[in-house]
Amino acid sequence: MALYDRILSIKGIGAQRAEQLSQLGIETVRDMLYYFPTNVEDRRITKKVTDLTDGEFACITAVVGAAPSVKRIRKGFAVYSVPLRDDTGVITATFYNNPYVMKNFRVGSYYNFYGRIEHKFGKKSIITPIYEAYGVNNVTNNIVPIYRTGAHITQKVMVATIKKCLEEAGNAIEDFMPKSLIEKYNLCRADYAIRNIHFPSDYDAYESARNRLAFEELFLLQLALNMRKQNSKKATVTPFADLDTEPITKLFTYSLTNAQKKVVEEIKGDLASSSPMNRLVQGDVGSGKTAVGMISLYLAVKNGYQAAFMAPTSILARQHFESVAPVFEALGYKTALLIGSMTKKEKNAVYEKLSTGEIQLVIGTHALFQEGVSFKNLRLVVTDEQHRFGVKQRGALVSKGENVHILVMTATPIPRTLALIIYGDLDISIINELPPGREKVDTFCIGENIRERMYNFIRKEVSTGHKVYIVCPMVDENDELDLKSAVSYRDNLAQNIFPDIKVGLVHGKMKDSEKDSVMNSFAFGDMSILVSTTVIEVGVNVPEATLMIIENAERFGLSQLHQLRGRVGRGKDKSYCILLPSSMDEDIKKRMGIMTKTNDGFVISQTDLQLRGPGEFFGTRQHGLPPLKISSLLDMETLKQSSEAVRELLEDDPTLAKDENTLLRKRAEVLFSDIDEYMV
Ligand code: ADP
Ligand code: MG
Repeated sequence: MALYDRILSIKGIGAQRAEQLSQLGIETVRDMLYYFPTNVEDRRITKKVTDLTDGEFACITAVVGAAPSVKRIRKGFAVYSVPLRDDTGVITATFYNNPYVMKNFRVGSYYNFYGRIEHKFGKKSIITPIYEAYGVNNVTNNIVPIYRTGAHITQKVMVATIKKCLEEAGNAIEDFMPKSLIEKYNLCRADYAIRNIHFPSDYDAYESARNRLAFEELFLLQLALNMRKQNSKKATVTPFADLDTEPITKLFTYSLTNAQKKVVEEIKGDLASSSPMNRLVQGDVGSGKTAVGMISLYLAVKNGYQAAFMAPTSILARQHFESVAPVFEALGYKTALLIGSMTKKEKNAVYEKLSTGEIQLVIGTHALFQEGVSFKNLRLVVTDEQHRFGVKQRGALVSKGENVHILVMTATPIPRTLALIIYGDLDISIINELPPGREKVDTFCIGENIRERMYNFIRKEVSTGHKVYIVCPMVDENDELDLKSAVSYRDNLAQNIFPDIKVGLVHGKMKDSEKDSVMNSFAFGDMSILVSTTVIEVGVNVPEATLMIIENAERFGLSQLHQLRGRVGRGKDKSYCILLPSSMDEDIKKRMGIMTKTNDGFVISQTDLQLRGPGEFFGTRQHGLPPLKISSLLDMETLKQSSEAVRELLEDDPTLAKDENTLLRKRAEVLFSDIDEYMV
């Protein structure tokens, strides 16, 4: 039996079972062997009936004393009882709606059981236990693997199936890790790992198997990403000849921070080389990423190419356009805005000028990569707030040009080791400094009892010409109920609490043009309070806004709260953020406490990542990596070790051409194409 044979070729697995397994992503024997348990449970100790206590989970070995009986309690609900005993006492195995037990047990035969013990009215029962014939020890009397199972597959079936696969194909398990790495990192061999991750002889064996497989997983992932990166560097482009940024920085009203300068230098290095740039700029809210993006765009257009600047919302795109276009026009370049809400005619005019090259810089939303858009010579794409885009969208725009330089910017910083994986094919720059003179946004977490005082505070801020954001409890922008509550929240404020103040509402369901007109009235007009859902999260600049209130703050992740808070404190005046969680339980208090204590986006995102785990932190599949089976992106130690191992290996054998690395190269190539599927 070979590893890559279909699971159907295992004796005893029929079409129906194969179909059920396929729903779990298991197609081949290898898939099955690499379907790891989420946990193992120690069921090695078999107890005597007399020693069983109420509520415990326990294993027993018992003989069936008499035929099972059934009691029909009401329609559709039957209780099956199997009378059991061992040499110390009697107990009943209880099953619900499970007619199979009537014929599965033979009176006088011994079985092992595992389940919850109930001790009531002097009688003992074991409730809906797992059971098997005495001596089998697959799911009892052993250290037992626990699998994530599908709707029609029980733990018992999973265990039996994996056992069969191991019996028939265990000898075919190959070790693709080079011997030298196995030794250096003290890993166990592949076939030992596979056997012991499922059926460990003891806990040490299980741990050692887990370590090896987690290491292997992160190692392979990084290796594949590395190959991907090398591949993308293979493309050649004409280096930019003119890298003088002076003409544009001269037009800024400030001088760049050292951190901005350093990142600009890194970008210039990329653009001066003959392979396409693939760079991520991480920088806290307000660290001045836009300026860095603008300088890059400028270098592209002054070298005779077209450039695109992409933002996740039309509000932000428009704002970028309003601040960027005048600078570029002053430098003699033509700039256009392209967003979904523009009329067909307006769009067509932009399309036309993009394809002839008359427009050098285009700023917009995902409207930029719609079908009708074609460029004359697009060479640079800058993506703002990358975390709001899927990887696919980034790809779509890049495909509009040839060997396009890519710069993505994000305000959700993550630790470097992790960034290297998540943004595997990107080089990373960090703006680790805020422009001078920025004051901390004072942050408070308050309860319902001081809402009145908060309203007074709002009134006070507004009376001095400041603006106030209130982020409303809205989880799902598509949820009608949530929408209603945001509308009525705003109406209540406007009619009952601040009848003398102009209160607006902006939410994701509004048309772009409606959003824009509300935002304009808030940013430049007489609207002083803006009730909003998270659409304001990204980018928009309103320097007069000094107060941010976040209702039901516990519903947001810390990074998102930090982003929201970043909407205030953008002008010269002292700014505040008030968090109003809907309850104050310990967990919520702790999270809000982090917000009140620090303004450092790096600290906040790391804590957030730790608390929520990578899955939620990045959003499902947002990061475009295949799901991890056994390792965790939070396991910094293994991450570090495995990345070190990848580095060593590639130093020694950059293309994995050596004989001892042949299996590894094949494995990485498979994963590499998997990743491509996820990323493209
Ligand atoms: P973010 O990194 O959140 O995108 P922005 O690019 O919007 O930050 O910059 C925030 C504010 O800081 C803007 O008003 C911008 O003009 C200003 N700014 C950027 N760089 C500097 C600097 N070096 N000195 C002073 N102000 C700066
Ligand atoms: Mg920004």
